[in-house]
Amino acid sequence: MTGGNRGIGLAIARAFEAAGDKVAVTHRGSGAPEGLLGVHCDVTDTEQVSAAFDEAEAAHGRIEVLVANAGITDDGLLLRMDDDQFDGVVDANLAGSYRVAKRAASSMLRNRRGRMIFVSSVVGLSGGAGQANYAASKAGLVGFARSVARELGSRSITANVVAPGFVTTDMTEALSEQRKKEILDQVPLARFAEPDEVAGAVTWLASESAGYVTGAVIPVDGGVGMGH
Ligand code: NDP
Repeated sequence: MTGGNRGIGLAIARAFEAAGDKVAVTHRGSGAPEGLLGVHCDVTDTEQVSAAFDEAEAAHGRIEVLVANAGITDDGLLLRMDDDQFDGVVDANLAGSYRVAKRAASSMLRNRRGRMIFVSSVVGLSGGAGQANYAASKAGLVGFARSVARELGSRSITANVVAPGFVTTDMTEALSEQRKKEILDQVPLARFAEPDEVAGAVTWLASESAGYVTGAVIPVDGGVGMGH
């Protein structure tokens, strides 16, 4: 579970923990919340990813479920965006997911089963003004997950995407009240999501009941995308 020390990732980690699963969460120096195994890992660094998996697997056994949740925003309009701003977001959100999926796949192949769940965003499907870097990284996860689903499906490994809408976390706390109101006006359910509501979709995708679901994009967006 990447980025499991706070926000949506922590809610997902707690949901797995409550179901009796052994959970390891990554952090970048904050430590892990009480009761969870924390492994230090910046997903932009392949060596840190490898060391974090080694540590988590030494403690908990081979990974069965990967949740690639770590993500950042660094918004700006296209003409004002610089290369570092674009590359930084794609490196953390998309290439970071590639790095952890690749390492997880080697363990899952040995188990001949596994579940990979990638946390994308409604913005990856609809686009967002000022978020070309973020939207590209999140859209990329869909093609990535579907490719993994095709490559590894015959080994009983599934790869799916969850696409949340606006969720109340540190990431969205930074937005102005005006921007929050504009977003809320687009939500048929007329409220923002709580992190637990994203966790529900993720734990379902990891469960036995979702064994025949792969390559899917599950929106948890209050109806903003109406299934897209
Ligand atoms: P937060 O900003 O609250 O948390 C982000 C998490 O990602 C933190 O745990 C952070 O770790 C971790 N992280 C960021 N960069 C890295 C990195 N390079 N290596 C390892 N960990 C990293 O975000 P949310 O909980 O809101 O978002 C979680 C995911 O959900 C993200 O992928 C986001 O894009 C996505 N999402 C969020 C939505 C929302 O409305 N909040 C909507 C749609 C999607 P640290 O504490 O060390 O910074």
